[in-house]
Amino acid sequence: MEERGKKINRERLTETFQQLAAIDAPSFQERQMADALKERLTRLGFAVEEDKAGSLYGGTAGNVYGFRKGTLAGPPILFSTHMDTVEPARGKKALLGTDGRITSDGTTVLGADCMSGTAAILEALQEIEEEGGECRDLEVIFFIGEEKHLRGSEVFDYTRVKSKESYILDLTGPVGTAAFQAPTLIQFRIEVKGRAAHAGLSPETGIHAIAIAAKAVARMELGRVGEDMTVNIGAIHGGENSSNIVPELCQLVGEVRSYSHEQAMEQTRKIDELFREEAEKAGGSSRMDYQIRIRAYRTPKEHICVRRFRRACEKLGLPCTLVKTFGGSDQSNLYHHGIPGLVLSSAMELVHSCQEYTEVSELVKLTELTKLLMQDRDSADLGE
Ligand SMILES: [Zn+2]
Repeated sequence: MEERGKKINRERLTETFQQLAAIDAPSFQERQMADALKERLTRLGFAVEEDKAGSLYGGTAGNVYGFRKGTLAGPPILFSTHMDTVEPARGKKALLGTDGRITSDGTTVLGADCMSGTAAILEALQEIEEEGGECRDLEVIFFIGEEKHLRGSEVFDYTRVKSKESYILDLTGPVGTAAFQAPTLIQFRIEVKGRAAHAGLSPETGIHAIAIAAKAVARMELGRVGEDMTVNIGAIHGGENSSNIVPELCQLVGEVRSYSHEQAMEQTRKIDELFREEAEKAGGSSRMDYQIRIRAYRTPKEHICVRRFRRACEKLGLPCTLVKTFGGSDQSNLYHHGIPGLVLSSAMELVHSCQEYTEVSELVKLTELTKLLMQDRDSADLGE
């Protein structure tokens, strides 16, 4: 009757999700979550370590890494999620509705981002155990501080990782979707400096910082700039909250995203130049600081991790949709440390809002998918 082996235990999976979601784990306060996950991994036979990443950020926990030898031949495969949750994240309750939808009580996020994926990994491992343990060598990493610009995965010591491919369970959309490409994200801050003067008595002696910024912003291309790039000014602040002073300072924050790292850098330089040009014309000055928050990557569609994903989707009758994302994930850091992979849609919707939800049916699919990936056998694994 049941072709793909024993069914996922829905009740236990739901319970695992609810237990994890009930743990408070705002960014850099992941202690309780780290302890809970370490305990579960240890029970599942993993050798578990926690690094010191937390201490770099004044956090309470480090990244949690686990390795377990499997029964199947071939190199290990890495599965990963993050432990932290965006605010409001304290006192979360995961409420199961009669329709199978799990929501918060409306005053906090739910934490399906990233506890859906985490629950799926743990339950897939549990099911495998109960069915006799057939699986590959596995590595897992639960990162801290993902929601704060991937801070945990930024400082992880990747020399200990043996896997050459990874699956991050951290994407919205129906299970059976995966992102293979993500952009570079550059955040910048611009400070335009003019000269203060009395706005009524001697405006001609002032240099108007807001006017300079306004001219520069008006010349900027904003929004979707071409197919592969977005540009935004997210905030502007200038002057002294006083009507009678020609404003001396104006500060702006913004960002550039592009699938091409070079083009993102080029666009950032162009914005800097544009502001300096306008400032110079008016006799003022402009200075830009920027930070590369994530770096673009693209996992080739021929990569073995895509093959495994396709195969697992096929077995489960899932659509197998490969997409580009314009969001960030720990995969960016993994990729640039020699571990390409996919970010899987992982039963989380309306994330970063109090309306966030997951669905039991999606959690079940995600767990089945994860389990098949953990048990996948590709001809390349046997050196064929
Ligand atoms: Zn996430």
